[in-house]
Amino acid sequence: MPWTQTGDYRQIVLNAMASWHASPTAVRTGYGYETTLAYSKMDFRTEDRPYDDWVGLTVLHPCQQSGCWYSYADIYLNSNANQLGNPGVTDFRRQKTAAHEFGHGLGLAHPDCWFCNFNSIMFQGELAYNTPQQHDIDDTNAIYPRP
Ligand SMILES: [Zn+2]
Repeated sequence: MPWTQTGDYRQIVLNAMASWHASPTAVRTGYGYETTLAYSKMDFRTEDRPYDDWVGLTVLHPCQQSGCWYSYADIYLNSNANQLGNPGVTDFRRQKTAAHEFGHGLGLAHPDCWFCNFNSIMFQGELAYNTPQQHDIDDTNAIYPRP
């Protein structure tokens, strides 16, 4: 499923994919079996975007047939020195960003509440965890029923 051209962040992206792959969902990222750009459904790229204030950005491309919403996702990680490229940013945080954007690629949105009493990788900003949480697993299983 994934293709990555993320340079120094490659292992971080692979770790994020592995966390989704290991989750109790139907999501199988192809971890360890990277595909080519032509066949992948999520394309990770690192870009140095000095004038943008995001650390990660996912662009979902609508599908052209019926019965689906999206055909593939472009996922960008901002390696600018003011974003993920800041030496003060840990690999833990970078992996959180990659796992969060992967969630967007699956169709997950940010939690729609200010004082949520659950954990979710789809919260923005720094979190105490960097892998999909039960809420994310439940949402994912609602979209992609397990066989
Ligand atoms: Zn987000």
